[in-house]
Amino acid sequence: MELEELYQDIVLDHSRNPRNFGEPVGATVHVHGDNPMCGDEVSVHLGLDADGTLSPIGFTGNGCSICMASASLMTQKVKGKTVAESEGMVENFQKMLTSTEEIEGDRALGDARILKTVRQFPQRVKCATLAWHALHEALEAATAKTGEPGAGRDRQFSLDEA
Ligand code: ZN
Repeated sequence: MELEELYQDIVLDHSRNPRNFGEPVGATVHVHGDNPMCGDEVSVHLGLDADGTLSPIGFTGNGCSICMASASLMTQKVKGKTVAESEGMVENFQKMLTSTEEIEGDRALGDARILKTVRQFPQRVKCATLAWHALHEALEAATAKTGEPGAGRDRQFSLDEA
């Protein structure tokens, strides 16, 4: 199958039928991000298991197909992973979309690697990175020590300012 067909299949599948959509019971951190350039809005809802892995995780929001597909793929990839593994994936995903150097495929990203195609459309890159940015904020909030600013609290950000 052509790469572009595969890209369209995966994006359509995940945007029409997003995985982990909704606010799961047990989520302790809620981060809302928006991308004013496109009108995308995504909230990531996250909890950490006793063993420090991401569970539960879900997302809510409204956005274009790239945004919704990226959020759906993101939740699938990081569910059950450790905070460090998840932060690594965020970093590699952002690099994959914004760096000009050729990134060695991060196999952990799996299907999400198909979103590399979005690099060809610079005005859409923030659509793809919004959910991953929200995850990064959520991980920071979830791991901040009790009493630190932002620990376990709701956060909001806009990619316009970020
Ligand atoms: Zn968008």
